[in-house]
Amino acid sequence: MITITPEAYNSVLAQAQGDVPNESCGYLLGTDKETVTENYPMTNIDHSPEHFSFDPKEQFAAIKYARSKGLVVVGNWHSHPATPSRPSEEDIRLAFDPNILYFILSLAGEKPVFNAFKIADGKVIEKTELYH
Ligand SMILES: [Zn+2]
Repeated sequence: MITITPEAYNSVLAQAQGDVPNESCGYLLGTDKETVTENYPMTNIDHSPEHFSFDPKEQFAAIKYARSKGLVVVGNWHSHPATPSRPSEEDIRLAFDPNILYFILSLAGEKPVFNAFKIADGKVIEKTELYH
């Protein structure tokens, strides 16, 4: 079962709310592949409400940081400021790694919605609802 600590979730939420109207993004690190304990905030170098891209230097730094703390990369997250918490066609197309989770935070509704997705072969194969 996938879990995320309230501290890590609150960090994601605060970062995403601060980046509205643009999408926000980061890595989620944890003590094992299913236990998120930390948000590693990253820059959306697209600075766009509809797209996001990681900065390769920050991705490298995140992995280095995780290793130094004995943590693993559980997955990455991005926000959808105005659309639901499900992967767009582009999100699915860009999800290259079936071994990590893709988390999406939606700020479109009255309450934030946070789901985790496993994506393989161009399809969502698993969805976990974390906050709604
Ligand atoms: Zn998206």
